[in-house]
Parts: sequence; structure tokens; C-alpha cells
Amino acid sequence: MGVFNHPEFDHHESISFIDDPATGLNTIIAIHSTALGPAAGGCRRWVYANDEAALTDVLRLSRGMTYKNAVAGLPFGGDKSVILGSDAAPKSPELFRAFGRAIESLAGRYITAEDVGISVDDMRIVRGETKFVSGLPQSGNSAGGDPSPWTALGVFLGIEAAAASRLGADSMHGLTVAIQGVGNVGLHLCRLLHDAGARLVIADVNPGSLRAVCKLMPAEIASPQEILFSKVDVLAPCALGNVLDSETIPRIRANIIAGAANNQLATATDGRLLAESGILYAPDYVINAGGVISVAHEYLGGSSEDQVRAEVSLIPGRLQDIFRQAEGGSEPTNVIADNLARRIVANSNKNKAMHDSTDNRRIA
Ligand code: NAD
Repeated sequence: MGVFNHPEFDHHESISFIDDPATGLNTIIAIHSTALGPAAGGCRRWVYANDEAALTDVLRLSRGMTYKNAVAGLPFGGDKSVILGSDAAPKSPELFRAFGRAIESLAGRYITAEDVGISVDDMRIVRGETKFVSGLPQSGNSAGGDPSPWTALGVFLGIEAAAASRLGADSMHGLTVAIQGVGNVGLHLCRLLHDAGARLVIADVNPGSLRAVCKLMPAEIASPQEILFSKVDVLAPCALGNVLDSETIPRIRANIIAGAANNQLATATDGRLLAESGILYAPDYVINAGGVISVAHEYLGGSSEDQVRAEVSLIPGRLQDIFRQAEGGSEPTNVIADNLARRIVANSNKNKAMHDSTDNRRIA
């Protein structure tokens, strides 16, 4: 399959395929839009079935970042990078230095940070080659560091908002939440939910991740194949995307789907299927914006953790607006969120065009 006729190609501004034979680095960096500012989005390292799967992932993820940053009110465009994991290219300082040089070659059009398979330490190595990186170790109480606790906080607050909206619940006490994937975000989310009195059902393909949760709190363990279909109040996908499709949705018994994973819907029409099945879906890039809010504040500098917390606390209000519109109209929540994000980007393009034409008149 080609690039420009790829079903997930959405007039991305640029797509870079970078190969570094010395380290084995193969990375794809997709800049979807810089309409709102330099493109910001994490780097994912994953072992893909083939190059096509990696391209599909990066095209979808980068468009999602444009929408996420727009709805979160951040002055950044959207992009994402994927590093193709393989035995021939294990994680190493040399590999991340080569990745840093790839970022540097884009001269600030892309700012990277952590996503699945990438740690704060990896980003520290990248920082040795480029300043266009965030998610670095914090100093004092300034914004920064691992974004996943902030993502988890936003998801937790979003789950509370969804539970109030759909179940009339004024707290999470006594509600049951199934969490698919208890890695960086999932573990923090488990803590917040447990502290709020929720019961947990968890699944992970990595037994070490399950043990980390069970050491800290009680949790029922489900199989990775069955967790999606648990009889629970809330399902929180916190592993990878594409878990909600025409095969899985008819079997889902949760009232609410609200989790951290990017691209939970296999296709946009699956959002309508969820609505028709009576399931309230919290659009993924709206609920999981906590991490990028932290990363953005760190990159811009001068913000404290309290400022990040205040911005993350705006996430439930945004979701409530979307839920209200969905209740009173005919569009499902994912379409309402997509339309909102596109409007924000289009308005910024319009404002820019007006600004440019004013400048041209001045020059003339
Ligand atoms: P992570 O790699 O730390 O955790 C993912 C966990 O999911 C791992 O423990 C992994 O073993 C598990 N997993 C993978 N496939 C699974 C499956 N089929 N069934 C059950 N478990 C499975 O990643 P993370 O940083 O916690 O991110 C989780 C999701 O949230 C990703 O989709 C990521 O893109 C999204 N996200 C993360 C952040 C962040 O701040 N880290 C921000 C926004 C969105």
C-alpha cells in the first residue's frame, strides 16, 4: 500500500522515514498539523507485524495528537513518531542518540516525549542530541517528568464525570472498573480508583505489571482476552488501540468506556455502534490529555505542578459538554469531539490567513 492513498492518510504535512544502519534505528515521524504551533506528540517503540502496521499506527496517532492538543487548548500541533522494535535494534543509548539526531533534523517542527515502550531515561538520552524533547526529569515542583501520572489523573476525573453523567453516581465508591493494561498509566489509575473506593478488575499480558498492582491493592485478575467483556460499570482500555470494533462492541457489558489508550475505536463508525448499544464513550484524546498537558507546560517552561493540575482538572468539564451534546443530539461522542477539534484547527488557519493578509496589505 502507498502513503498518499493510505486510508489513514489525512493530508499529513510531512512523514519522515529514517534509517540509521549503525544502530538499526528505523523510525517514522509523522507531522499531521502545525496549524496551532510546533507539532508535539510522543514516541512509541513497538514490535510491529510489518512496516505497514507501523505506518498505519503513526498516521492515526499523529492525527489524534492534533485533535488532542486542539481540544486541550494547547499551542501545539500534532504528530507522533514510532520506533520499529526488533531483535536487531534493541533499546540502547546509541539508538536513542540516533533518534535524537532524527528529531534535531526536523529543526523544531516536532517535539517528542514518552509513549508506550519509552521511559524518562530514554528521553534523557535523546536530550543529549536535541532540545526538542520533553518528559524529562523534574526539578523541584516545576512541571515535568513522567507524564503518565497526569494522564491517569485526567482519566480518573473523566471516569468520575462519566459515572455522574450515565449512572448518576456522586463518587466511585462501590463501582467496579475493569482496566485493560496496567502499565505506567494503568497502575496510577488503579491507585486513584482504589483510593476512591472502586473495585478493580485488571488484565495485562505482562505478569509483572499485574503483580505490581496486586502488591498495592486488592484486584480481581481477568484474562487479557476476556477483560473487555467483564460485567462492570466502567471499562478503561489502557493498553493499545483498536480494541473497540464491530466484533467486540456487541459483547461489551460495561455502561461506560473511559480509558487512556489512544485510538480505542477501530473506525469512527464504531463510536456510533457504542452509542446505539447504550454505552457512554469518553473520546480517548479528550480524556487522556493529562500527559500532554504536563509535557507542554514543561516544554514551555515557567509552570508549576499546581498549574498542570488545574489544567488537567478541566478535562471532566470538557467531557460533560460532549456528553450533554450527545444526549441532546444525533451525533455520538467521538464525532462531537472530532468536529470540535477540526473547528479549532480551521479557525486557527482562518485567523492566520487574516493575519497574513493584513501583513501583506501593510507591506504593499
Ligand atoms: P505502558 O506500555 O506502560 O502500559 C501498557 C500496558 O498494557 C503494559 O503493561 C502491557 O503489558 C499491557 N498490554 C499490552 N497489550 C495488552 C493486551 N492485549 N491486553 C492487556 N494488556 C496489554 O503504556 P502507558 O504509558 O501506560 O500507556 C497506555 C496507553 O495509554 C497507550 O495506548 C498510550 O498510547 C496511552 N497514553 C499514554 C499516555 C502516557 O502519559 N503514558 C498519555 C496518553 C495516552
